[in-house]
Amino acid sequence: MSAPIVRRLTELRAEVDAWKRAGQTVGVVPTMGALHDGHLSLVRAAKAGCDRVIVTIFVNPKQFNSPEDLANYPRTEVADARRLAPLGVDAVYVPDPDQIYPDGFCTTVSVAGLTDVLCGANRPGHFDGVATVVTKLFTQTRADRAYFGEKDYQQLQVVTRLSRDLDLGVEVVGCPTIREEDGLAMSSRNLLLSDRARVWAPELHRAMEEMASGLLAGGDHDALRAVAEARLTRAGFTGVDYLDLRACGDLALMTTVDRPARLLAAAWLAGVRLIDNIAVG
Ligand code: AMP
Repeated sequence: MSAPIVRRLTELRAEVDAWKRAGQTVGVVPTMGALHDGHLSLVRAAKAGCDRVIVTIFVNPKQFNSPEDLANYPRTEVADARRLAPLGVDAVYVPDPDQIYPDGFCTTVSVAGLTDVLCGANRPGHFDGVATVVTKLFTQTRADRAYFGEKDYQQLQVVTRLSRDLDLGVEVVGCPTIREEDGLAMSSRNLLLSDRARVWAPELHRAMEEMASGLLAGGDHDALRAVAEARLTRAGFTGVDYLDLRACGDLALMTTVDRPARLLAAAWLAGVRLIDNIAVG
């Protein structure tokens, strides 16, 4: 049996209100679909932590930077519902676009500071789109907890901040990145890689691991970064948007590992922008 799909807010609200009246906790897992094991790990965490679980699937136009990227984003709703079926999800909320952005919608949620760097610098308006849709999904689902992947580390920080700043009452739970056997971080965008590009894609994670080990061994940051970039170029990557060592909480730039840090990267392979991040130390 497939998980029940809900497309209208009134329908979702009726369900959630009944759960709340029964004193049950609600977890939400926001996604853009094309579900893989990374998404399913969030669903399992939500099932373990909450009485009721809603998975949302909404390809949010406001967080895309180009119409082509939005048009090319994989959409696999039937397969998604099938993948969720064995997990015992209580509702799959696939809102019709007007349920999120009704006519005349003109509000933007913007988190300052954290969004100026990394993906925020390369994708103007992206995090405003994320923050706006996440705020809507939090208030629409009335969730107690929301589960996000560390795979999108900056997004996790942004969402955690906005939930606190706006007193949304949603506890944001970060979950570890799930990888393919060769180390490539699972991502819906991996479906866009050609067979050839898929072979080289794990080089991103390998180059990052090598740079992280070098940093922990006291190596020079700039030299290690240059080695990593050269490795990516050899593997066919055509550009590196960023390959940064940053502080875990506030994402401040670092060059030596003197506090908890994360190495974060975004790089282009055969027209697909891959992102990844790992803990350093
Ligand atoms: P997306 O559908 O790409 O917007 O992702 C929805 C949620 O799944 C986000 O919280 C992502 O961080 C999370 N996610 C995506 N890929 C992974 C992964 N490989 N491991 C864990 N979580 C992931």
